[in-house]
Amino acid sequence: MGCLFCEIIERKRPAKIVYEDAQVMAFDDIHPQAPVHTLIIPKKHIATNLDLQEEDLGLVGHLFQIANRIASEKGIAENGFRLVMNCNRDSGQTVFHVHLHLLGGRLMHWPPG
Ligand code: 5GP
Ligand code: ZN
Repeated sequence: MGCLFCEIIERKRPAKIVYEDAQVMAFDDIHPQAPVHTLIIPKKHIATNLDLQEEDLGLVGHLFQIANRIASEKGIAENGFRLVMNCNRDSGQTVFHVHLHLLGGRLMHWPPG
């Protein structure tokens, strides 16, 4: 079965790409839940957080580093932001290609919904 996010990486599906390098891509969420809602993904297809391997640890660090950079560029670093990675059914994961949600630009509530 095709993967939506692999299609974005391969430029087969349009997206508002905000960052790209050899390992990572970031693009704005199609249904934003906050004024800033960007998804940061590895170019390597990894279905869920549970599928991360030892060799992916550097990649995970890189996702967080790029999230910081985008948060600064979009002007939400100082006020604050939320990073979310959903995993499997109860979390609400709908796209099975690991992605870090960067959410900001409004006050976040806790506990999350
Ligand atoms: P999940 O629920 O799996 O953590 O998050 C998947 C996210 O991907 C959702 O916030 C959803 O709006 C977003 N999304 C789904 N399909 C597309 C798409 O084709 N393009 C973009 N930019 N975002 C998508
Ligand atoms: Zn994929």
